[in-house]
Amino acid sequence: MVVKTVLVVEDEHKIARMIQAYLARDGYRVEVAFDGVQGWDLFRRLEPDLVVLDLMLPQMSGLELAQKMRSASSVPIVMLTARAEEADRVAGLEMGADDYVTKPFSLRELSARVRAVLRRVDAEPVSEVVEIGPLAVDMAAREVRVDGRLIELTPTEFDLLAYLVQHPGRALSRRELMEAIQERSYASLTRTIDSHMKNLRYKIEADPKEPQYILTVHGVGYKFRREG
Ligand code: CA
Repeated sequence: MVVKTVLVVEDEHKIARMIQAYLARDGYRVEVAFDGVQGWDLFRRLEPDLVVLDLMLPQMSGLELAQKMRSASSVPIVMLTARAEEADRVAGLEMGADDYVTKPFSLRELSARVRAVLRRVDAEPVSEVVEIGPLAVDMAAREVRVDGRLIELTPTEFDLLAYLVQHPGRALSRRELMEAIQERSYASLTRTIDSHMKNLRYKIEADPKEPQYILTVHGVGYKFRREG
């Protein structure tokens, strides 16, 4: 049997280590991240089979991290929440967490949830490839083919297409599409803005390298110069 990888994101070191030791005893490979940023990093590197995610995290909240992971994959997520975090728990489940455990929890309870979620996921047929006629969209590989021919898409184009094929028959407003792709392609949208600005500068500035109209605000973005 293939060893499953579990990523634990929990800022309380003691709890994180306890979970790690317990799940390792269950036979999983367990990696630990102590904040949201590190969690996202490890998530992308490890491509874990399941994530145990604490909601209250420094740097990037558990909800935000869950959202990012969801937009990148269908990895099962088991949330750790405090009793007082009812609203967050609901948001987490709506956002796509598969299950949750309320703190304080027993390790045995968590281990049972992890096992149950993994079993559920294993039972589901893997259908990462959506096929409509000659069009095939591979969500995991982020590849699109038409009649078997690989089509080159930009990351944003792929995200748009992926969102479209996941909501067949539904009219989607531009606003909804923007929101849908915002999270997952934040980086590429940023670059899109940059390339539009560059083009604009070439068109309106006397010297695009020394722009007089469209000014760069470092660390923020852009600013159009004041009159005069
Ligand atoms: Ca915490």
